Amino acid sequence: MLPAAVLRRAQAELLDWGGRGVSVMEISHRSPDFMALAADTEARLRQLLDIGDEHVVLFLAGGATAQFSQIPMNLATPDQGPPAFVINGHWGHKASQYAALRGPVHIAARSDPLSIPPPADWNLPDDSAYVHITSNETVDGNQFAEFPQTPCPLVADMSSDLLSRALPLQRFGVIYASAQKNLGPAGVTVVIIRRDLLERAPSDLPPVYSFPQQLAKQSMMNTPVTFSWYLTGLVFEWVAEQGGVEIMAQRAKRRSAMLYDLLDRSGFYRARVPVPFRSRMNVTFDLAEADLLPRFVQEAEAVGLQGLKGHRVMGGLRASLYNALPLAAVEALVAFMNDFEQRWG
Ligand SMILES: *Cc1c(COP(=O)(O)O)cnc(C)c1O
Repeated sequence: MLPAAVLRRAQAELLDWGGRGVSVMEISHRSPDFMALAADTEARLRQLLDIGDEHVVLFLAGGATAQFSQIPMNLATPDQGPPAFVINGHWGHKASQYAALRGPVHIAARSDPLSIPPPADWNLPDDSAYVHITSNETVDGNQFAEFPQTPCPLVADMSSDLLSRALPLQRFGVIYASAQKNLGPAGVTVVIIRRDLLERAPSDLPPVYSFPQQLAKQSMMNTPVTFSWYLTGLVFEWVAEQGGVEIMAQRAKRRSAMLYDLLDRSGFYRARVPVPFRSRMNVTFDLAEADLLPRFVQEAEAVGLQGLKGHRVMGGLRASLYNALPLAAVEALVAFMNDFEQRWG
């Protein structure tokens, strides 16, 4: 979901961006106007997450999935041990598989998909090129509540929770997120990299996949995804206007608590994930009577509650509660669920 205010602004600017008489889609990405937009977007993100000079920010294409390959290409050099993976669900597993296409990987920990392996139990060799985690497992519905301090660079896929909370930036080597869950429309991928790690990139990488070469070209080695970049910038502006990531965190907590409270009180619904590992972005749950699931989804859609069917690999139900979702939407879901239980429970 995107904030309605952002969509309205994009609509208003679609034919005439800031008095230029054209859309942002119709100008050159090399024009001073687009370069200024790019710089402004980065500055807004830096402010929201308190990103200092020790990290660089890239706005790339290819989604988080491209990063599953691009990060090992740039960071896993023969001088280091294999990259380590903490697998806490669907996406972390996929990231490890893609890295394994490029060289050996080490599995530091693997949880059943409904929890997070405790950092004290990770088997993490000191010379690991990096350790990869998925801060919020979108499909499974688990989330790191806190981030550990690690002996090797910590790499986090934050595709579904970036900007939903403040971060201890100094703990991270790389943070990446494709835009379409919590930041904007599909297209752009935000990659935040600790500056010293850029030195690892082999010089013979394909240029578009090289972090240092992309940095040298301000993420514009070739034509970037300009409209997604622009709209994501509007979302950054919106988050700042709302009060920043602390406010986003409070709202995420409130939205998810409303739903988990209902799930825990009911014998009709069941939350999948144990309390300490629960995601504030993606709430996964089941019906005690699994046969009722198609009816639940159909009736929910009929009253405007969309996208509740669980991911195809997980089944069950999932409510995604991203930054732009108003509390009223969760209230409507809770009211529907109570009503459905009364009629079918
Ligand atoms: C959606 C998602 C991805 C995949 O993103 P793409 O942009 O489609 O490549 C990867 N990781 C997480 C955590 C996701 O939620």
